[in-house]
Amino acid sequence: MRICNSEPGDIEHTIIVPPYIRFVETRSDVNIYDLRLSQPNISYVASDVLHSLEHCLNVALTEIMGKTFIGTAPLGCSTGNWVFVSSKVSFREFEMYLKSAIYNILEMTEVPLCNKHQCGNYRNHNLAGVHDIMLHLLNNNEKTSAILHFLED
Ligand SMILES: [Zn+2]
Repeated sequence: MRICNSEPGDIEHTIIVPPYIRFVETRSDVNIYDLRLSQPNISYVASDVLHSLEHCLNVALTEIMGKTFIGTAPLGCSTGNWVFVSSKVSFREFEMYLKSAIYNILEMTEVPLCNKHQCGNYRNHNLAGVHDIMLHLLNNNEKTSAILHFLED
């Protein structure tokens, strides 16, 4: 996975090269990261995969980081996730935690909290798609293209 520890602020979406994890900015003692998985305006992650990724990342990073992990949420454009972490955790530490989370997620045999009591759309999940993305992040595996959807020009 590429690491972009860029200057805080917005980015030019036509020149970025996913996948990557990028530090966006610090707000109120929260470090905001952009875990970008697909190319903006070219491809996007299916909603069931993005939904499962949110569940998996939230559980895995909470187990690893405790309360220094704040949460994650899908980007509205479906090209990745926001990740929110206490500013007490350095970028390098977070990178290490994220790698551990990827390995933990690859060990998961079901999506955490995937039931009607703990999820608002529990039928909309795809763990195999999440595993493909985790492998892509580790290996830049071309297999990911199977779960990305390409937009028409
Ligand atoms: Zn859910």
